[in-house]
Amino acid sequence: MTSHEIRRQFLDFFRSKQHLIVPSAPLVAKNDPTLMFNNSGMAQFKDFFLGNGTPPAPRVADTQKCLRVSGKHNDLEDVGFDTYHHTMFEMLGNWSFGDYFKKEALTWSWELLTEVYKLPKDRIYVSVFKGDERDGVPFDQESWDLWKGIIGDESRIILGNKKDNFWEMGDTGPCGPCSEIHIDLRSADEVAQKPGKELVNADHPQVVEIWNNVFMQFNRKADGSLEELPARHVDTGMGFERLCMAIQGKQSNYDTDVFSGTIHVIEELSGQKYTRGTDKSDVAMRVIADHIRAVSFAIADGLVPSNAKAGYVIRRILRRAIRYGYSYLGLTEPFMTKLVPTLAMQFADVFSELNAQRDFVATVIREEEISFLRTLGTGLGRLDQIIGQLTTEGESEIPGATVFELNDTFGFPADLTALIAREKGLSIDQAGFEKALAEQKARSRKDATSSAGDWVEVNESDSQAGFVGYDQTEVETQILKYRKIQNKQGTQYQLVLAETPFYAESGGQIGDTGTLTLSKAGTPLCVLEVIDTRKENDLSVHIVENVSGIDDLLTDADSVYATIDTTRRNLTSSNHSATHLLHAALREVLGTHVAQKGSYVGPDALRFDFSHFQKVDDAQLAEIERIVNEKIREDIKLDEKRNVPIEQAKNMGATALFGEKYGDFVRVITFDPTYSVELCGGTHVPATGHIGLFKFTGEGSVSTGIRRVEGKTSVGAEQLVNEQMAVVSELKELLKAPKDVVKAVQTLLEERSALQKQVEALQNEKVQQLKGQLLEKVEVVNRNGGPGHARLVERVDVPNADALKQLAYDLKAKVDNLALVLGADINGKPQLAVMLPDSLIQSRNLNAGQVVKELAKNIKGGGGGQPFFATAGGSDASGLDAALAQGKELLG
Ligand code: ATP
Ligand code: MG
Repeated sequence: MTSHEIRRQFLDFFRSKQHLIVPSAPLVAKNDPTLMFNNSGMAQFKDFFLGNGTPPAPRVADTQKCLRVSGKHNDLEDVGFDTYHHTMFEMLGNWSFGDYFKKEALTWSWELLTEVYKLPKDRIYVSVFKGDERDGVPFDQESWDLWKGIIGDESRIILGNKKDNFWEMGDTGPCGPCSEIHIDLRSADEVAQKPGKELVNADHPQVVEIWNNVFMQFNRKADGSLEELPARHVDTGMGFERLCMAIQGKQSNYDTDVFSGTIHVIEELSGQKYTRGTDKSDVAMRVIADHIRAVSFAIADGLVPSNAKAGYVIRRILRRAIRYGYSYLGLTEPFMTKLVPTLAMQFADVFSELNAQRDFVATVIREEEISFLRTLGTGLGRLDQIIGQLTTEGESEIPGATVFELNDTFGFPADLTALIAREKGLSIDQAGFEKALAEQKARSRKDATSSAGDWVEVNESDSQAGFVGYDQTEVETQILKYRKIQNKQGTQYQLVLAETPFYAESGGQIGDTGTLTLSKAGTPLCVLEVIDTRKENDLSVHIVENVSGIDDLLTDADSVYATIDTTRRNLTSSNHSATHLLHAALREVLGTHVAQKGSYVGPDALRFDFSHFQKVDDAQLAEIERIVNEKIREDIKLDEKRNVPIEQAKNMGATALFGEKYGDFVRVITFDPTYSVELCGGTHVPATGHIGLFKFTGEGSVSTGIRRVEGKTSVGAEQLVNEQMAVVSELKELLKAPKDVVKAVQTLLEERSALQKQVEALQNEKVQQLKGQLLEKVEVVNRNGGPGHARLVERVDVPNADALKQLAYDLKAKVDNLALVLGADINGKPQLAVMLPDSLIQSRNLNAGQVVKELAKNIKGGGGGQPFFATAGGSDASGLDAALAQGKELLG
């Protein structure tokens, strides 16, 4: 059975059990402060388990792209070394949202594995939670009984502890026991020698966990206690690649058709064979075959390698693969980029986003490879040197500061350094590295949220209105729940309202601010300032500062009047609508390859990132700006359509952004159906005329293949123009109102450079005169009848240090055997120059560098140079005469 068939059969099976099949969410997690990447199938359904939203159907199934490279689940270090952990993998899953429970889930999983996929029953083991007294959670008797009935053989059931068999969403929230399914893929001989049961959960590469069935039945509160959930859910996850290994009778995920195509290309590129073993070259091939998937799909979902956050994680994964290829397969030219087409083809009908952006993804990877390969050579050399030195010194650990330096300068992640060190029998000071890293992080950014209390429910509401801010700027409503959070800003409160006019930050548009007036029985209690509104999964969370007695106020209030800051909102809407006009103009002028890669829409400005490989030149910018302003003047009416079926929206010409999760129904914002049609949840002006004016304020590169433009609209644009005009009028005034300001400035600059030349010539002349005068002051010093030398020690008046040096050299050329000390006060800064003839250097073992250092003490300074000529600068000009006197004596 091919992997395609295996995937399809999974989905078909659950479809036949009345499950709705949904698409995978993007790899990059959105609106979830606790998660960077989707790392399990359930991540996109979190809200339904938390009771914050309604699932599309009570039963759902899918295959989800998962990435386990950060946070709670981080398998990166194992990848390549073992044969069944990946960075990116597909998790097949089926879910029940308050519908079926353990009985159906377990029965179906057995049915699918043994009857549809025909996996041998005697090779399957299952585990059941044995309970944890300290935690107050009981043995999962129900699952035990069910499995006993299904398998009919108790010996295949294993009792598991909290670590393996109890699942929790986080420190708080839904949790419950789980039941894993393991499979023994060893040969009959091996099985005869040791029963598979002993190898379950023992990190054996052929006795692996393939499926986990989680039963959410409790909620853990902030104090650690558990309460029963009102609705019980099923969440399952099966590793697709491991399943393929089992069904295709392979010993390793990399031997399945999921990876074999890519490995074949790597073999061709490197001219080496994959031998399925533990050789460095085999590890490297597995690393590369794995990482190219993570990197390609992450980029297809809108990420780009960068120096921060998720982009940095992607950069590190890509670099890890490049390093392996470089070191163990001799791949010193970009090669990862060449793997993209095969991968894109393979997944064209499963995750089509990669194929649709194949060229873009390949180019981003290639550019990243070129730049990393360049630093890699230098970095590896440096590391070799460090390791060599430490080894000769008998050290076995690379200091944390060095690891950090390699990381900072050569882009060597610590894990890479650790790996190279390990190969040479050294370790790294991980703690020291982390300390250095933490210090750097602390320097460059402030930490966000740290701890949150339990949600306190204050009101129940049957209003499902949620966000009403497209139509209203104020609303009378109720507080549903609130919680206290502790972060760098101190104590804040998060509030959820039954209805809200506050737009919660998303799609680049920042959250609304405003006020909440709390009242009880018609009497106002207090006014709370909303400082930000954010989305947490599907909830709009209003953030307010702590005020005294806030808990009582929040629980006492029976109504709240929510009002947004409309001035701020209107400016933001203006920038958002302008962003749409800009997007369309960019595509018109630069080409339809332009795709949105990020944006910021605030009251002050707008910023738009998009895929494009060259700088947008001034002429293009001018043309884009002209089009946007023309569209503003056309005063095009906003056409806003809500709840449009996604297919219909696409037919209207709206393009869905990659990496964005859309529901079945979307909102479509149109400014002239032939000009701009976008899927958008943001707020907009009623007609483009409200934008007033659009001006660019910047253009630049964000990272490979991605440009950024910045601009201002409305009041902001007006201010910008006023400021610029004020600058021009001031200039005009300074230049005595010339007809053409630019020409006047040009003339000024030309005059200035002509004058500068004149000054230099004059100075030169003066130095020549000085030279003549100085020549007359040269004394001859005879030493007891021996060969004498010429001496000149003088204070001179020169315009700069260069002139002083020139003077010394000119004098040397005129006078044989000249020993010279010149001192000058150059605009309050004392300077010294010392020149020695070879005769003195040899006969008296003098050195101009040492002499000048000695003399410079008089002027509180220092300097140096060559044996025959040296200079020094100081800070105390009053010591110049003393320096010269000392010089005179020294050269006597
Ligand atoms: P393991 O102990 O093998 O790391 P896990 O306990 O982390 O697995 P779960 O979080 O329960 O796994 O995920 C559900 C399923 O996803 C697992 O049964 C396994 O088949 C698969 N899986 C988990 N992590 C990976 C990974 N890094 N690569 C491939 N498949 C994985
Ligand atoms: Mg794991």
